[in-house]
Amino acid sequence: MLKSRFGWKSSAIGITAAALVIASFTAAHDDNEAAAASKQAKNVILFVGDGMGTAQRDAIRLATVGENGQLAMDDMPYLGLIHTSSTTPVTDSAAAATAFASGVKTYNGAVGMDANKKSVKTIMEYAKEMGKSTGLVTTSQITDATPAAFASHVEDRGKQSDIALQYLTKSKVDVLLGGGEDFWYPAGQPGGFKDGQPDDPSEKSKGTQGNLVDKAKSLGYAYVKNTTDMKKAKNGGKLLGLFANEEMFQQRPEGEGDIYNPVVSLPDMTKKAIESLSANKKGFFLMVEEEATDEMAHQNNAKLTIKAGQQLDQSVRIAKNFAASHPDTLVLVLADHETGGFSIEEVDANDESGDAISKEDGPFAIAKSKMNFVVDWTTSGHTAVDVPVTVTGTGAELFSGVYENTGIFTRLAQAMGVKLPK
Ligand SMILES: [Zn+2]
Repeated sequence: MLKSRFGWKSSAIGITAAALVIASFTAAHDDNEAAAASKQAKNVILFVGDGMGTAQRDAIRLATVGENGQLAMDDMPYLGLIHTSSTTPVTDSAAAATAFASGVKTYNGAVGMDANKKSVKTIMEYAKEMGKSTGLVTTSQITDATPAAFASHVEDRGKQSDIALQYLTKSKVDVLLGGGEDFWYPAGQPGGFKDGQPDDPSEKSKGTQGNLVDKAKSLGYAYVKNTTDMKKAKNGGKLLGLFANEEMFQQRPEGEGDIYNPVVSLPDMTKKAIESLSANKKGFFLMVEEEATDEMAHQNNAKLTIKAGQQLDQSVRIAKNFAASHPDTLVLVLADHETGGFSIEEVDANDESGDAISKEDGPFAIAKSKMNFVVDWTTSGHTAVDVPVTVTGTGAELFSGVYENTGIFTRLAQAMGVKLPK
């Protein structure tokens, strides 16, 4: 009860005063709600450098901008540190992306499912419910584990045609740009990229769900195969771009047919996705992945790990430029895990160099200096070390601290104003 200074029994004057107090309280309450809403991230752009640990980020920095420069992905006001385990200490990309997308620890290989193989709702599905548009961009197969965990639910990450079908008919992702057309066409239908190309003769169509490109077209998707057509596609519509049979690169050790030269660059895909998705006044959720930072590291190929990381950084720059004119945008750069036990070392002929692919790579020039560094490796697999997340924009402060990978989901939900079930 409100008590005016005129006392309970005071007449019209007291009632009027109380009414005024109530009115102003209500107005203040509305203001608070408006302020809270204005502090919500309308747009989210989440960058995943697959396998990109702290040392990888340092090597990309040294090779690109040198000791005194700053990468776009580092020039952000907030930093967090993520513990990466799945239900086992060393995660794979599927379990890690499921932790980011749905906030559960699960087994390696699980996509959008918890440890009991129960589907778990993803942050992109919540975004869709809020009326936002959604997009997935990657240099890997568009149905590979990382993008898959944001918009599909399968027990085994290998079921890539099932994942593609779910994108089209269940999660209804608006923009899909990446590789992996082999899973969209059944055997015998080569699609936009011929089967058995010279850079990898083993790659050929092997879809298990019929011709999913035809299916996508029937559902209203514009289908594109190159940069020119991608740029021409109408913004705000549904867009499917498939730009390789499998990954948009060839992951091999140095000098053994290793290629990182995607036919459509990650920055170009990122730019188009943002242009198209931002036509929605209610905002969007976009996940952008550079996959070669992981797969080249599996091959202990530092040269192309760094090259891929540079493309990721260019893509982050594009997102930050968008965020500069759309301040209700949250931009994050993180990794799902570290790959390779990547280490930056002094050039030293007496230091052990390992054998086979694990021998030191380099020397690599440090930009704007006369100095060099070499890269050494401890494994061709993933490691369990923590990975950094750098963040800018609305809600970025939520991501400070040291926490589990599942904490990315809860913080994204909080930043976007998603009402999670209790
Ligand atoms: Zn990997």
